[in-house]
Amino acid sequence: MSLIHVKIDISGIVQGVGFRPFIHKLAMRHGLSGFVKNTTFGVEIELSGIPDAVSDFIRDLKKDSPPLAFIDSINVEVLPFPADFSGFSIIPSSADNDKTALVSPDIAICEDCLAELFDPENRRYRFPFINCTNCGPRFTIIKDVPYDRAETTMSGFSMCELCRDEYSDVENRRYHAQPDCCESCGPALFFCGADGQKIRGDAIKTAKQYLLDHKIIAIKGLGGIHLACLPDRDTALSLRFLKHRDEKPFALMCKDLDTAKKLCIISKDEERLLESPMRPIVLLKKRADSLEHISENGYLGIMLPYTPVHYLIFDGGIIDTLIMTSANIADLPICFKNDDAVRSLAGIADGFLLHDRDIFTRCDDSLVWCFDKKEYPVRRSRGYVPFPVKVSKNVGPILACGAEQKASFALSKGSFVFPSQHIGDLKNAETLKHYEEQILHFEKLFDINPKLIACDLHPDYFSSVYADEKSSELCVPLVKIQHHHAHMASCMADNNLSSPCIGIIWDGAGYGEDGTTWGGEFLVGDLSQFSRMGSIRPIALPGGDLAVKEIYRIGLSLLRDAGISSHDIFDHETRDVIFKMLDSGFNCPRSSSIGRLFDGVCAILSLRETVSYEGQGAIILESIASETDKLYPVSFYAQDGIDIIDFRDMIRGIVSDISHGTENSVISAKFMNTLVESAVHVCASLRKKAGLSDVVLSGGVFQNMYMLKRLIKKLSDIGFSVHHHSRVSTNDEGICLGQVMIANEMGWL
Ligand code: ZN
Ligand code: ZN
Ligand code: FE
Repeated sequence: MSLIHVKIDISGIVQGVGFRPFIHKLAMRHGLSGFVKNTTFGVEIELSGIPDAVSDFIRDLKKDSPPLAFIDSINVEVLPFPADFSGFSIIPSSADNDKTALVSPDIAICEDCLAELFDPENRRYRFPFINCTNCGPRFTIIKDVPYDRAETTMSGFSMCELCRDEYSDVENRRYHAQPDCCESCGPALFFCGADGQKIRGDAIKTAKQYLLDHKIIAIKGLGGIHLACLPDRDTALSLRFLKHRDEKPFALMCKDLDTAKKLCIISKDEERLLESPMRPIVLLKKRADSLEHISENGYLGIMLPYTPVHYLIFDGGIIDTLIMTSANIADLPICFKNDDAVRSLAGIADGFLLHDRDIFTRCDDSLVWCFDKKEYPVRRSRGYVPFPVKVSKNVGPILACGAEQKASFALSKGSFVFPSQHIGDLKNAETLKHYEEQILHFEKLFDINPKLIACDLHPDYFSSVYADEKSSELCVPLVKIQHHHAHMASCMADNNLSSPCIGIIWDGAGYGEDGTTWGGEFLVGDLSQFSRMGSIRPIALPGGDLAVKEIYRIGLSLLRDAGISSHDIFDHETRDVIFKMLDSGFNCPRSSSIGRLFDGVCAILSLRETVSYEGQGAIILESIASETDKLYPVSFYAQDGIDIIDFRDMIRGIVSDISHGTENSVISAKFMNTLVESAVHVCASLRKKAGLSDVVLSGGVFQNMYMLKRLIKKLSDIGFSVHHHSRVSTNDEGICLGQVMIANEMGWL
């Protein structure tokens, strides 16, 4: 039979993930000769063999590729001349630089390494830094590309002979595993007391003893340092007190899936996410109203162990669940350096489980819901970043600077957008510095020199100020993009949509084109333009920003607007002052925000007078809601060509329910049903006007699963195609993706 000669080009994450050895084995298995090498774009393969074997090879290539590999494209070309190969070999890479190759995220320890970790016969028995080609740190230890040990924080550890043999052996599962090491040549784990002085002895054993003594310890992980302690009430409350974290839920790390199942109801899809190599924190429904000191709402954020150190701590079965929260004070970025940790966590941590492999890049744990069988990200970070979002358009070299509170940025090139990890709130100087450093790091890592910069329309966002400076410094144009249009474009890109659609963009706050704060918007448009076609009746916020925390102010404002001037259901000692402010309009900026509407209703139900973090009012209402289909009345009016939802009848209905003793759980559900129903009403009217039936949902409000599920169901029932996020977050973290897509449409590149 005649032989064919083919050339196969593969792009994607195919370097540093065991791809060439995989190709080598696959070629041998199919009796093919030829070679494989790394190139600028990925890998290049040439093969010679019988046609059937070649097509089987290509089939298996797609099916069985290594767990960390991501194949973006495969291009097969049949060469017209015969080849003369003797066997199959891995040949050196082309000399040009490898900068377009993708960088892998950090990956949880794999099954093979885990088995070796607990195998007394293995030379890496209980070695806390065991890893292989399929697992271990990547993004957080890489200083530059090409991905090579010398460009990682492992550069200071030179391999022993045994490790080097494994590293150079193509048949070995540690072939070219850059962080490979062992007890004799790798980093060391150690335990320090509160004063930062090393304590002699087995570090893991000491750490476990501290934990069992109800102490709080710092544990160095992949992308930063955690504060860990037992999840009992007293220990958790002292951690809250020390960390200035009054109410925001803590994440838990459970020893295994069975332990997690005792705390939460977990579906098959949620199990899959928990156990995925990305190991995100998954938000799960609590089994019972318990662990209030961990999470005051109906959900717990749980993750499974992902480093060898975590497994060693849980080994032995005495500890099965730990609070694992980022080691930082209030809004500062997560600690990731040993000396900083000892200094800044003094007075919080009783001990430190550290090691001498540096973390180069901070990367917090990712946080996701499981929705529609997939991730629904709340925070896309460790395990996912710097994996790109592939978009269906070609995008130029753009830097999108994101928003402010849940800051993130994105750089783009080709068909890829690279959103950054979670950065945090830019209002503090440390976080802003981290943000600026990461932009430079990403530019270097992916070899992108931005020719266009995009930022939010908000003039005072630190990201906008940064964008302004950077654009003058680089002499490249700056595009300012309206916040909700960016949300809409983000969800469109997340779903590879580009033709006109309806966007329901509901969030806490975004700077509107008219200079007021928007947040309950219905947009019609595409990636290049939009019209604001619907919104809600603006809510006056007595005291401005103060009302965002002191939500009783919003409650009073909603009551006043609905003509309820005094009642004995919800009241506050400042009522008369606030009513006076409202009547005069003094320091009462107006906002069409759904987030603020949630806050106000939360206050009217006397659930809270103040909140301590953004979105808390909405989370409380969602967590108490019961199942009902009942609704409140609403009305609609048109203003300047915009359909406005008027919720005053609903507020009157809520007050009447309270006075009739209706349960808060029922009122909360009726309230959310009313929001859903009014959105459906506006969409139906926009469909008549604009003839569109694709709807995208974006904005922080859609972190509310009750609303998300119901709205998708109701809209789908009447023939809309409804699209939601799955690759980037629905909150402001996801905005950078939309900014890239809109800026790219400007036609300036
Ligand atoms: Zn492994
Ligand atoms: Zn070694
Ligand atoms: Fe937003």
